[in-house]
Amino acid sequence: MNEGVNGAVALPACRGKLTAGRPLSNLTWLRVGGPAEWLFQPKDIDDLAEFLRNLDRRIPVFALGVGSNLIVRDGGLSGVVVRLGSRFGRIDTDGTSLRAGAAALDSRVAIRAAESGLDLTFLRTIPGTLGGAVRMNAGCYGKYVADFCREVVMVDRSGKVERLRNRDVGFSYRGSSLPPGSVVVEATLECPRSDPAELFSRMEAQLAYRNETQPTGIRTAGSTFRNPSGLSSTGQSDTDHSMKAWKLIDDAGMRGARLGNACVSDKHPNFLVNAGGATATEIEKLGETVRARVLENSGIELQWEILRVGSKACEQGN
Ligand SMILES: Cc1cc2nc3c(=O)[nH]c(=O)nc-3n(C[C@H](O)[C@H](O)[C@H](O)COP(=O)(O)OP(=O)(O)OC[C@H]3O[C@@H](n4cnc5c(N)ncnc54)[C@H](O)[C@@H]3O)c2cc1C
Repeated sequence: MNEGVNGAVALPACRGKLTAGRPLSNLTWLRVGGPAEWLFQPKDIDDLAEFLRNLDRRIPVFALGVGSNLIVRDGGLSGVVVRLGSRFGRIDTDGTSLRAGAAALDSRVAIRAAESGLDLTFLRTIPGTLGGAVRMNAGCYGKYVADFCREVVMVDRSGKVERLRNRDVGFSYRGSSLPPGSVVVEATLECPRSDPAELFSRMEAQLAYRNETQPTGIRTAGSTFRNPSGLSSTGQSDTDHSMKAWKLIDDAGMRGARLGNACVSDKHPNFLVNAGGATATEIEKLGETVRARVLENSGIELQWEILRVGSKACEQGN
């Protein structure tokens, strides 16, 4: 058993690494946020399953990928944050499918697939892990994980290892209905076959396009808000996302707006950027200001696509 940060909580023993009070800011793309009460890096699936089975049900569990779609608030995350290491990053292919551990980076998955003549090129420019991609139903160029996913292996909050078929994952636009506290450990994707040279040249073109249209090499979490529906007056629909959030933000005069060290990208107004030393509070507040201005200007209520997790600094210790 391990004693908790405040001495009150006892955690089960494990074979992996358990760290108390681990700062999360350097584990996320935005480089902001407070610590995890506990960070757990399991050794293998059995270690993860046993740990979760023995973990007090009242303790929250959060799976962290590489934090490319997250604002971790300044007060940090209570409970256990699970981060899968390289042992969960294996990638295997056969004639028409690819199976990979959830820690495999999407870009690596796309490259390994292309080497085997399998088309998962849409994943090449998405900076997260395969686990995060399943949870978020990540997509690009009109293709989503849901279009390719055959099976997902996850360990649920009670430590049970489950194999889910595509329809059981509950994929939706930029989301899924995986139960809270569950950790995806592996996914199998069905892939169309294509000529490797053609796949590599397509990925080169995608990278060039991304570099031209999006800020790169900076601290951001990608698209901040979902693209709203062009069909409904409120902008909410799960099937149509034809309206562009960046255009609504631009029209509301928020391109380049700044709050402290947080700013709206000049290059792509749907990207919030940590310009250096920003806090999570500043970034979230700037995002809320953008939403208010867009609502005022267009009547459309933008929905956050970036997930905001943890407690605000003033709530720490509650
Ligand atoms: C520059 C940039 C460009 C981007 N472009 C795109 C894009 O084109 N398309 C797109 O869809 N997204 C894009 N994103 C957003 C982001 O990369 C995706 O949402 C990605 O899938 C998140 O993966 P992650 O591993 O970073 O997850 P995290 O950000 O760490 O977590 C996101 C969510 O996934 C959950 N999660 C992570 N790992 C697991 C796991 N193993 N098991 C269960 N749940 C898990 C977390 O609990 C959380 O709910 C972009 C982000 C950036 C910074």
